[in-house]
Amino acid sequence: MKNIAILGASGSIGQQAIDVIERHPEHFNLVGLSVGKRVDEAIDIVSRLNPDIVSVQYEADMARFAEFDVEVVCGAEGLKAVATASHNDLVLNALVGSVGLPPTIAAIEQGIDIALANKETLVVAGELVMAHAKKHGVNILPVDSEHAAIFQCLNGEDHRQIKKITITASGGSFRDLSRDQLESVTVEDALNHPNWSMGQKITIDSATMMNKGFEVIEAKWLFDLDIEQIETILHKESIIHSMVEFVDTSVMAQLGTPDMRMPIQYAFTYPNRIEHDAPSLNLAEVAQLNFKAMDLDRYRCLKYAYDALKIGGTMPVVLNAVNEVAVAKFLNREIGFLDIERLIEREMKAHQVIEHPTLEQILAVDKQYKSKEYEV
Ligand code: NAD
Ligand code: MG
Repeated sequence: MKNIAILGASGSIGQQAIDVIERHPEHFNLVGLSVGKRVDEAIDIVSRLNPDIVSVQYEADMARFAEFDVEVVCGAEGLKAVATASHNDLVLNALVGSVGLPPTIAAIEQGIDIALANKETLVVAGELVMAHAKKHGVNILPVDSEHAAIFQCLNGEDHRQIKKITITASGGSFRDLSRDQLESVTVEDALNHPNWSMGQKITIDSATMMNKGFEVIEAKWLFDLDIEQIETILHKESIIHSMVEFVDTSVMAQLGTPDMRMPIQYAFTYPNRIEHDAPSLNLAEVAQLNFKAMDLDRYRCLKYAYDALKIGGTMPVVLNAVNEVAVAKFLNREIGFLDIERLIEREMKAHQVIEHPTLEQILAVDKQYKSKEYEV
């Protein structure tokens, strides 16, 4: 029986993780959870799964759990309390944004393994988080489908024999539009992802291709690769989740239908596997798999992510913070779609990089760029 805590239990990944747990009560026990504003959802989960601890974003919501035998906490400290609860074997971090960094660090310091969906944690502090995990003997198990694919391809392999990895990208909602057409797209268009149903922020990040940029950075730190070893390719069916080429040119790929419950469950059971009752991949039905070279001029956010990774230091923190603010403004209909990349480019150009930042410096830069007033 594995005791699992879920940060971000009301989100897209969080809900699918709850589904995995409820389908396998003989394997998994939910010990703690956090939600943001969706308290009704948390009440529902608490009444069904009887965890020890629950965290909500706002103090005012704490009283709503009065009828349950559960410890109630809130805010940033609440996230850390859930992540480090004493019975945890594993924490699934399914928060969105760099808010996921401090509870990840807290769990690592308690020696608790992390199933990581929250890629922003590795974007802003990959070097520091991985070093910290190594020091405390903690596994960081990828949940992102591409990284879960690479992780599986590397099972039992010697990492020094990797030639390169190829991360696949569906292309997002606007894959068939030109840059001129992107000028006038709407929030509704952007939220209409062809292959995956996900939270709003990652759906916009997929449309701008920033999501793939974040995944390049995430892969660098998870698998200790050089930037030149990380390639991306457009693959509109999202059937090949990613691949690894070894020094002898042999290529290993991981395939499956687009269903996040598989990588979530694998992170929960690793190194074992248990049944997953989703339909099997039917390649005869899929019939065709398409690939196209990635175009960094068309997808500028991906280029900025490669740039930020090359520059290093606090540049990826700026990339992420400005992106979080810009995506929120786009979702709020305050700025246009292409303003997201314009803001990021401008702020990256002006940023004075701090090399090898400490956690405190990372959090300070993150806060500075999130609280800044931006003119477009
Ligand atoms: P989501 O928006 O659906 O859910 C995010 C969760 O975080 C919610 O529970 C929300 O309440 C919580 N949250 C947000 N801000 C918070 C705050 N300040 N304090 C406390 N809680 C807060 O997002 P999602 O699509 O589930 O994505 C979660 C993470 O997983 C992201 O980093 C995303 O990039 C990554 N991811 C998602 C998918 C997917 O299929 N959805 C796939 C791969 C990776
Ligand atoms: Mg992904």
